[in-house]
Amino acid sequence: MMINSKKIVGLSLALSLSVPAFAAQFITIGTGGVTGTYYPTGGAICRMMNKNKKETGIRCSVESTGGSVYNVNNINANELDFGIAQSDTAYQGYNGEGKFKGKAVTGLRSVLAIYPELLAFVVRKDSGIKTMSDTKGKKLNIDIQGSGTRMSVDTVFDALNIKTSDLALVNELKASEGPTMLKDNKIDGYFYTVGHPTANIMDAANSVDIDLIAIDGKAIDALVSKYAYYAKGVISGTFYKGVKHDTPSIGVKAVLVTKNTINEEFVYQIAKTILDNFDEFKALHPAYKTITKESLLDGLAVPQHPGAIRAFKEAGIIK
Ligand code: GLU
Repeated sequence: MMINSKKIVGLSLALSLSVPAFAAQFITIGTGGVTGTYYPTGGAICRMMNKNKKETGIRCSVESTGGSVYNVNNINANELDFGIAQSDTAYQGYNGEGKFKGKAVTGLRSVLAIYPELLAFVVRKDSGIKTMSDTKGKKLNIDIQGSGTRMSVDTVFDALNIKTSDLALVNELKASEGPTMLKDNKIDGYFYTVGHPTANIMDAANSVDIDLIAIDGKAIDALVSKYAYYAKGVISGTFYKGVKHDTPSIGVKAVLVTKNTINEEFVYQIAKTILDNFDEFKALHPAYKTITKESLLDGLAVPQHPGAIRAFKEAGIIK
């Protein structure tokens, strides 16, 4: 095929004349599975950011990912500019503990701690599982290695002395696959550390009779008092069809994180956008019900990026 170079030159000239004088800068936020809470949260932040893209020159997009650990590692590798991560993952990443032993992500910085997440243990009602100690001999999905959920499961199993070798089947698939596997009776239960209510568990509850199992007791209390990034909480009995009781569990914060090398202006703009549009943002997802501008600073887990500090100072929240 002959290529008419004159035409191509003409076309690219026309294109370059139609773009603004400054080049748009792109930022990407790493989230989680599309039916989780990180993904719509990243979407909400980007939509608010993109409303001002003419003034700021910043264009925001989200990426669906495997979750917290993946996001922290890819921020470190400069593959993502921002990401959402559980506060336990962020803390361990920054301090080189647990999965990050010998691989501390010392450049990890927080922007703000958005909302609380609680570990849900979602089971089929007919599975016979009533407590965490009924997991022996059961088929469970414990999530992929790149997820924060998996970190929570490993920690809780350790604390409760539950061994994966005691289970009949250990699946290491994403929580997004949990509802289908549960419905098809391929598993008895799956875990998900997530902001509630979440579409994922609603889907499960709408397709099969489910229950949520309490994660509490002395060993969990000890975990919460040992690590500042864990907190106790309750998954409300109003959230999921068929689950009428409140379910006590262990939780973390979902923290928006970035790297020390990210342009201060990008971080400032993202924090400013959330603070300036806080009421609108808060109304976007029921998982944000209890958050306040002040609570965005609780549970940051790692040092805050100077761009975020500037935005919080301007808003009068950091004095
Ligand atoms: N906390 C989960 C994780 O890091 C993700 C939850 C979500 O996507 O909302 O694995």
